[in-house]
Amino acid sequence: MPTEPQALDALVVGAGPAGIGTALALAAIPDLTFGVLERGQIGQTFLDWPAEQTFLTPSFTGNGFGATDLNAVHPETSPAFSLGVDYLTGPQYAKYLRSVAAHFRVPVLDDAEVTAVARHEQGFEIRCRRGPVVARSLVWAGGEFHHPLKPRISGSGFADLAHTAEAWEPRAGRVLVIGGYESGVDLACHHAERGAHVTVVDGSTPWDAGTGSDPSFRLAPRSRIRLATALDTGRLDLVDAHANGIKRAGTEWTVSLDNGTRLRVDSRPIAATGYGPGLGPVDKLFARRPDGWPELDEDDQSTLVPGLFLSGPAIRHAGLKFCFIYKFRQRFAHVARVIGERAGKDVGALEAWRTAGMLTDDLSCCGVECAC
Ligand SMILES: Cc1cc2nc3c(=O)[nH]c(=O)nc-3n(C[C@H](O)[C@H](O)[C@H](O)COP(=O)(O)OP(=O)(O)OC[C@H]3O[C@@H](n4cnc5c(N)ncnc54)[C@H](O)[C@@H]3O)c2cc1C
Repeated sequence: MPTEPQALDALVVGAGPAGIGTALALAAIPDLTFGVLERGQIGQTFLDWPAEQTFLTPSFTGNGFGATDLNAVHPETSPAFSLGVDYLTGPQYAKYLRSVAAHFRVPVLDDAEVTAVARHEQGFEIRCRRGPVVARSLVWAGGEFHHPLKPRISGSGFADLAHTAEAWEPRAGRVLVIGGYESGVDLACHHAERGAHVTVVDGSTPWDAGTGSDPSFRLAPRSRIRLATALDTGRLDLVDAHANGIKRAGTEWTVSLDNGTRLRVDSRPIAATGYGPGLGPVDKLFARRPDGWPELDEDDQSTLVPGLFLSGPAIRHAGLKFCFIYKFRQRFAHVARVIGERAGKDVGALEAWRTAGMLTDDLSCCGVECAC
């Protein structure tokens, strides 16, 4: 006779920084039963990064003085300490995640893509190729990297997307990058440094620092330094306009802009136009905000389905974006505490996350701007 699988208190989907970080907080709660399902292996997204890409938030071991390494997912760890690197590559960060998961004995099942999630009398039934799992709470931490947003323009199929290896391959002559935030500037500098003549088009001109200090809206210092160096070569132009169509004509590509001009380039345009929330099989279990991002309650929980939480860069609260690790990690211990309290467990150990500056309950304090 088939038997019902025993329900876990919590299941986490995805073993990137959001999934491993949330699981580490769950692991601090005595007697809580939980696990992580991962489509590939721990840190898969970072293993899939094009080889040229590195972190832009530096790692530094400030942990002992309450300034926990910006890229750490557990208060007692630091990628800078374990790897001796400040700007990590993707594979280096994957190695850090693997070592943290092993050290704290986080139960992760690799090669276990979640393909369906259904409501169950005890919570959720989660289906993956390794069999069904039942859990009272579910944390979706599937990431965004595999859900890039193509530009919504005619001929967008002619563009190479920023996260692919093609976008980073050597290009001669005139190169066009659509999108001028971190990925677009990274690519533009990469090609300009190698001799190409690069134009970046973006009508929202993210390269203009403005007055806000939030790195989700302004370029990181290292990107601004690289941008200034590339501009000095005379091989980089920044254009305040949106692309609205791509056509191919023989060996050239023509990109029309909303300022009425057309640009001709010698290779497929590159689209660095961001990522979507990537909710996979739980897509329909979240309501949407007017801007298309998932609607969450104050506990990062679906407003449609209690017990379903979101962890990672797709978290939005009012005007706040949690798109860096140092931001979304502020919610690991909060979500773990809600899950632990519902399961009737002692969640006192999670105060260590607050001491380490890794727990923010009151989101009203996150919008503070720097005075200088
Ligand atoms: C080039 C680049 C540079 C960046 N630099 C920085 C930086 O300097 N600092 C910073 O803070 N952030 C940086 N980011 C952003 C950061 O990488 C992401 O915010 C981070 O990876 C998000 O973590 P995550 O765990 O939510 O997602 P991911 O790291 O993408 O992990 C999600 C995991 O879920 C798995 N998964 C997905 N769907 C399923 C499924 N159905 N079943 C099972 N498993 C599934 C995936 O295989 C993956 O392992 C950068 C991003 C890019 C692309």
